Amino acid sequence: MKPIKLGLIGCGIAARKLHWPALKELKDKYDLCVVCNHTETKAKDFANLVGGGPFVTDYQELLQMPELEAVDIVLPINLNYQVTRDTLEAGKHVIVEKPLAANLSDAKKMASFEEKYACVKMVAENYRYRPGLKRIKQLLDTNTIGKPYAVFWNHFALVDENNPYARTAWRINHQYQGGFITDAGVHNIAGLRFLFADIECGTTLMKSVNSHIGELDSFSFQFLTKNNIHGSLNIFVSTHGFAENRLLILGHEGSLRLEDSRIFVKTKSGKNLEEEVNNDKGYKEEFEDFFQAIRHGNPVISSFAEAYRDLEVIFGALNAGQSWRRF
Ligand code: NAP
Repeated sequence: MKPIKLGLIGCGIAARKLHWPALKELKDKYDLCVVCNHTETKAKDFANLVGGGPFVTDYQELLQMPELEAVDIVLPINLNYQVTRDTLEAGKHVIVEKPLAANLSDAKKMASFEEKYACVKMVAENYRYRPGLKRIKQLLDTNTIGKPYAVFWNHFALVDENNPYARTAWRINHQYQGGFITDAGVHNIAGLRFLFADIECGTTLMKSVNSHIGELDSFSFQFLTKNNIHGSLNIFVSTHGFAENRLLILGHEGSLRLEDSRIFVKTKSGKNLEEEVNNDKGYKEEFEDFFQAIRHGNPVISSFAEAYRDLEVIFGALNAGQSWRRF
């Protein structure tokens, strides 16, 4: 089957560190023919990295290339709506990075593209493809720990002014609610919604510890899923010292934990399991899904509708009212 002729818009960190390594492994499926960045040096450097092909500085020029079948959009998120719409108007399939948009109004318009355009539309939400989460879903679906009733996800990390992501202008001077909490948290929400039923309601405590990285960096979200699972999502990205990314699920017959790339299961019948999962973060898998959708017409796992709901939940959590009982 012929590789897909792909163009890429936005030659920044994610394109370089996440998309290109995945695309390089899928050379039989993708031919990255042209790249675009509005600053010429970045476009040129990235074009050299990916094989020395052509580059442009105006994305409209890229969209006019008749040979291109699909476009990978890896831009600051406030541009997602306009560039996605222009790409679909140009008749190209689109994969656009998460979060879907910088606000719910743009995101809603993008969700309506599902009916408006026949081309494939997909959001590069890698948590829907991460091997570790897929394995956990399999273990839950096969009743390994019985019916789950609670989930705890702790993500403690240090993102300071020296972090390359924090140094991107659109994150530091972010024009979207939640700063790093939205940027990172939308992944966790997607992961939780992938594993369980939808998140129905919740309440949140949050604060800013290091105001140099945006309006918010510390967030505790207590929630309930539609099937009555209690949840706690803690994202603290100004953590000095102990870092962790640990997901713990309690079921009626046991519990399971995902820590980086290791899964641990303990059940009340004494069955213990410890396994290493592929630590791939799902970038290759998402491009595989995009390929299947374009060449075979399969529906994508990470649709605009799912990404819209992820964003609605994270913004809902940020806006959640709190009612307190004084003891
Ligand atoms: P970034 O490094 O700032 O990259 C964005 C690039 O777009 C920059 O090179 C920027 O150029 C360029 N650009 C801005 N406006 C443009 C325009 N009008 N036309 C062409 N190019 C333009 O940001 P990033 O960290 O790569 O993030 C990009 C996207 O990836 C975001 O949606 C982010 O949420 C997502 N992301 C996802 C993951 C994940 O795990 N899935 C991880 C990281 C990022 P200048 O710098 O010259 O302005």
